Amino acid sequence: MQFIDLATQQARVRDKIDARIKNVLDHGQYILGPELIEFEKNLAQYTGTSFATTCASGTDAILMALMACGIGPGDAVITTPFTFVATAEVISLAGAVPVFVDVDIETMNIDPESLEKTIEAFKSGDSSNCALPQGYQDLTLKAVLPVDLFGLPADYDAITSIADKHDLLVIEDAAQSFGGEYKGKKACGFGVIGCTSFFPAKPLGCYGDGGAIFTNDEKILETLESIRVHGQGLVNKYENVRIGLNSRFDTLQAAIMLPKLEIFPEEFEMRQNAANKYEELLKDSVTLQKIPADCRSAWAQYSFVLKTTAQRTKTQAALKDKNIPSAVYYQIPLHLQKAYSFLDYKQGDFPASEELSQKIMSIPMHPYIKPEDQELVAETIKESLE
Ligand SMILES: *Cc1c(COP(=O)(O)O)cnc(C)c1O
Repeated sequence: MQFIDLATQQARVRDKIDARIKNVLDHGQYILGPELIEFEKNLAQYTGTSFATTCASGTDAILMALMACGIGPGDAVITTPFTFVATAEVISLAGAVPVFVDVDIETMNIDPESLEKTIEAFKSGDSSNCALPQGYQDLTLKAVLPVDLFGLPADYDAITSIADKHDLLVIEDAAQSFGGEYKGKKACGFGVIGCTSFFPAKPLGCYGDGGAIFTNDEKILETLESIRVHGQGLVNKYENVRIGLNSRFDTLQAAIMLPKLEIFPEEFEMRQNAANKYEELLKDSVTLQKIPADCRSAWAQYSFVLKTTAQRTKTQAALKDKNIPSAVYYQIPLHLQKAYSFLDYKQGDFPASEELSQKIMSIPMHPYIKPEDQELVAETIKESLE
C-alpha cells in the first residue's frame, strides 16, 4: 500500500500530459510560456480569486507574499508552531521574526482566542501570561500567517476580524489546502494573499517543485510578477525597481498541471469519500481532526490523535508489519526546533501543539485509495489499540 498513489492518477491523464509536453518542446517557450498563462487563469478561476501568480515552490510563494507586503527587518509575523518548518522559515528569510500562537487541539489550526491574547500581550508589552519571542519589544507586529493544516482552512472569520481590529494583514498558508472550503469559499482566497504549493504530495501536485500566490489586488499582482523576475520594472524590464528573486514555475510543469487541474474537482470529491469512510471506520477508536460543519478539507493528510506516544509507536509498528505506511506530522513543534532556539521559547509554551506532536499520526490518503485497503488500515489500527 502507498501513502500517496501518484501513478494511478498519472495513468488517467498520461496521454494529455504527453501531448502538452510535446507542445512545449515544439514551441520552446520554456519560461513564462503560454501553458503557464493558461494554468494561472484556470487556477484563479478554480479558487474564485482574481489573480494567480505561479512560482518555484510553496516556500517561495509565502516568501514572495511577505515581500510584496513590505514585511522585513524589525517586523513580526504571527503563525502557528504546529506546521511544516517552511511557514516560519520564510518569515525569517524575509528578515522578520515569527511569533507563535498555539493551535486549537481539535481542529489543529491556529486558535483565534490565543491569537487575540498574544496580540494584546505583544502590544501591551506584558508577557507574564503569554509566551512571546526574545526581543519582541523592539518589533512591529505586521501580519498573521495562518496555516490550513492537513487541508482544513483555518477559522478565517474570527482571524480576519481580530486582524482587522489590530491593523494586521492576513496571509494564508494554503500549501496543504488547495480545494478546501470555508463557508462556501475556496482556500487560497483568504486574507490579502493566499499561497499554495505544488510539491508532488500536496493535494494538487506537479512533477517537481512549484507554488502559486493568489490575490484580488491588482497592485499586489504587479508586485509579485516583478518579484519573481528579479524585481524587474513593469514598463522597462531592464530596470530593477525592487530586490526580487528568480522564482518561476516552468512552462513544462504548467503543461503537466493543466490536465491534472481538470480532474482535480473530481479527485477532491474522491478524497472526501475516502475521508468519510475512514471517519466511519475510526471515529469510535481514535480522536480524529475535527472538521467544522461549514468547512471542507482538501485532505492533504488524514490525521488523528492517540492516547499516548507509546500507543502511537505501537500502532505505527502494527501498520508497518502489514506494509502499511504511516507518518508523524509534526514530531517537533517549531518553537522547540533548534533553528528557533534563538527566540527563547520553552517547553510548555504551546501545550496543544506539544500534545499533538506527541500523539498524532497520519495514514494513507489519496483519491484512489481502495475501500478494502482503508478497511485493512482501520482494522490494523483498532487491533493495535486492544
Ligand atoms: C509544503 C508546505 C510548504 C512549502 O511548500 P514547498 O512547495 O515544499 O516549498 C509551506 N507550508 C506548509 C504548511 C506546507 O505543508
